Amino acid sequence: MNSDYDVIIIGGGASGLMCASKLNKIDPSIRVLILEKNSKPGRKLLATGNGRCNFTNLKIFSSYYNTDDTKKLSKILYSYDAKKIIDYFDKDLGVVPAYKDDLVYPITYQSKTVVDALCSSLSASKFIYDTEVTSVVKKDMKYVVNGIYSAFYVVIACGGVSLPQSGSDGSLYPVLRSFSGPDSFERLVPSLVSLRSPDKDIKKLSGIRQECEVHMDSRSEKGEILFTDNGVSGICVMQLSGMYNRAVSSGKKIGSLYIDLIPSMNEKQKLDKVRSLIRSFPNRSKADAISGLIKKPLAECIVARSDNTAEDIARLIGRFEIRICGSNGFENAQVTSGGLKLHNVTDGLELKSCHGLFVCGEVLNVDGICGGFNLHWAWASAMTVADAIADEFEEV
Ligand SMILES: Cc1cc2nc3c(=O)[nH]c(=O)nc-3n(C[C@H](O)[C@H](O)[C@H](O)COP(=O)(O)OP(=O)(O)OC[C@H]3O[C@@H](n4cnc5c(N)ncnc54)[C@H](O)[C@@H]3O)c2cc1C
Repeated sequence: MNSDYDVIIIGGGASGLMCASKLNKIDPSIRVLILEKNSKPGRKLLATGNGRCNFTNLKIFSSYYNTDDTKKLSKILYSYDAKKIIDYFDKDLGVVPAYKDDLVYPITYQSKTVVDALCSSLSASKFIYDTEVTSVVKKDMKYVVNGIYSAFYVVIACGGVSLPQSGSDGSLYPVLRSFSGPDSFERLVPSLVSLRSPDKDIKKLSGIRQECEVHMDSRSEKGEILFTDNGVSGICVMQLSGMYNRAVSSGKKIGSLYIDLIPSMNEKQKLDKVRSLIRSFPNRSKADAISGLIKKPLAECIVARSDNTAEDIARLIGRFEIRICGSNGFENAQVTSGGLKLHNVTDGLELKSCHGLFVCGEVLNVDGICGGFNLHWAWASAMTVADAIADEFEEV
């Protein structure tokens, strides 16, 4: 078996597949090898968007991401904006886009369509599955991977550590650190994850969804909250989870989040409504009386927490406290916040300290909010790497 290639890509997930696809498109004579520890490509990609793959967003801005180098991130997002990514999927891969507001999906609403289309574009690449990379060594001008495969260029596309059962479990991080240095990583914390609460009374609310506005520290998010067996979830909570985990891991105390359960009403309107409902139905319990305003289990929880006055009930509807004691960890997170700092790589995402070693996707210290931003980063960073490597071939 041939063990000598031009480029070795470690990881056959979103960014690894896209990097190979773009390299193949630019120059099919570049010999690309993809090494993947799973027996199939794109395992996490298949799980995205509940199997529907929200692959980008029409409003890609660097302000929707967390990173250590916004300038470098902006440059990459400017070069590979939503239009360029949608065009690549549509015209080069044959994946027809569908739009839900700003969110972009394949029109089949199946992530398998995206994985299949990427794989079909890789006729000039070789795939080796069931191969976990455990060593990368630089020998003279080349890199030797697992003591067998060699290439002038290596792309690390091994993902973050979220949903480790998908294959991205950080197993390659020590290898990457051996090239990038001990302080090159931003601390890893789970992001886009549900939060845990010690509050016993909210257990009864498990399964309830409520449109609301959630406030945590100085940030707030509007959207649907979902009460769970051990706390709260829903997109608005997940959007705040990265900020929560980063703050807590750096020693800051954030004890609670506060929910406005009816953000469409101001304080006075809430109080007037609660008062009038209690007055209109004097023979009902207070929770029953307001259950046309607030779902019954929530109404019961609020009344039980209140001093039984209309004023306190209305106040709690506008500021329902949920104490938070952590998140549900990397096992349940959609993305990893932290990773190799952008500061340590060039604009082409090559390690500054190591010529020929490139990095793309979630392993870098870039994480976005829900809505297609994280896959967009996987594609944009992968294309940036492919361009940079192709430029090197042109120079030779
Ligand atoms: C449940 C869920 C839903 C999501 N939904 C969306 C969504 O709708 N929209 C969105 O934008 N983002 C979504 N994301 C985030 C998105 O999936 C990731 O940001 C994206 O997959 C990251 O791409 P990547 O290539 O960096 O890593 P991955 O896709 O994780 O790929 C990394 C690959 O490297 C392989 N690998 C790791 N270590 C080694 C090794 N040592 N040797 C060989 N191979 C290795 C892994 O097996 C894996 O196949 C979701 C994530 C989850 C968990």
